[in-house]
Amino acid sequence: MGLLDGKKVLVFGIANHRSIGWGVAKALHDHGATVALSIFDEKLRRRVEPLAEEINCDFIEVCDVNNDDDLDAVFKKYEDTHGQLDILVHSVAFALPDDLAGRFVDISRDGFKLAMETSVYSLVAMAKRAEPLMPDGGSVLTMTYYAGEKVIPDYNVMSIAKAGLDSCVRYLAADMGRHRKIRVNAISAGPIKTLAAAGIPGFRGLLKHFDAVAPLGEGVTPEDIGGAAVYLTSDLGKMVTGEVLHVDSGYNVLGLTAPMDD
Ligand code: NAD
Repeated sequence: MGLLDGKKVLVFGIANHRSIGWGVAKALHDHGATVALSIFDEKLRRRVEPLAEEINCDFIEVCDVNNDDDLDAVFKKYEDTHGQLDILVHSVAFALPDDLAGRFVDISRDGFKLAMETSVYSLVAMAKRAEPLMPDGGSVLTMTYYAGEKVIPDYNVMSIAKAGLDSCVRYLAADMGRHRKIRVNAISAGPIKTLAAAGIPGFRGLLKHFDAVAPLGEGVTPEDIGGAAVYLTSDLGKMVTGEVLHVDSGYNVLGLTAPMDD
C-alpha cells in the first residue's frame, strides 16, 4: 500500500529530467498518487512527454504562471478531468540573468517585479485556485532556498524572492489551514544542477563548496527532495504546516563553512 494511494496531484515546473519538480512528481507517483503536470510552454512538451509517460500521466497543460487566464484555464481543465485535487506542487522560479550577477544594488525595478511575480506571487495565485478543489483539505508544497535566509553570492534578486516565498508559506498556512484544513509547506533544497541553477553565475563553485563542507558530505538530488515531499504531503506530515524543511545535507546548521579536516 502506498502512502499516497488515491491522492491526486498537480505539479507546476518541470522542464526536464533534472528538474526538482520531476523528482517530486516521480516520488509522489511511486507512492500511489495520480499525477498531472503543467509546463511553461509548448517547447517543453517534447522533453516532458516521455517523463509523463513514465508516471502514467496524460495531463500536460501549458501555463505561464504570470498569466491569470492561463492559470484559470489549467485549473478549470484539471477540475473538469480530475474533479478533486489533494496536492499542489509549485516548483517554479525565474529571474533575469542580469539580476543574478553583479552588485545587489544594481537590481532593476522591472527585474525585481518579474522575479517576485514569477517566483512568489505565483504560489499565492495557484493556492487561491487550488482551494475550491480541496474541499476536504489538502497539501500545497513549494521549493525554496537558503539564500532567502542568509547571503549567498550571486543569488541577488532570487534571494529576496525566496525570503518572500518563505513568508507566503507561513501566511498561506495560517489562512488556508483555518479555513479549509489545507497545509502549506516548503522544502529548502540544497544546490542541484538544474536548468534554473545554470543561470546562477558561480553555481559550479557553490556546488563544490557545498560538497566539501556540508555535514553529510555530499550533494542532494531531485530524488532526495521527492522523498521529503512524500513525507510532507502524505499523512506522515499531517500536523505539519507553515514549515520550511531543509533537505540540504545539513548545510544550513553550519556557522562556519570552512572545509573540515577529517
Ligand atoms: P528547473 O529549471 O528545472 O525548474 C524551474 C521551472 O520553472 C521550469 O520548469 C520553468 O519552465 C518554470 N518556469 C519559469 N518561469 C515560468 C513561468 N512564467 N510560468 C510557468 N513556469 C515557469 O529548475 P529547478 O532547480 O528544478 O527549480 C525548481 C524550483 O526549485 C525553483 O523554485 C528553484 O528556485 C527551486 N530551488 C532550486 C535549487 C537548485 O539548486 N536547483 C535549490 C533550491 C530551490
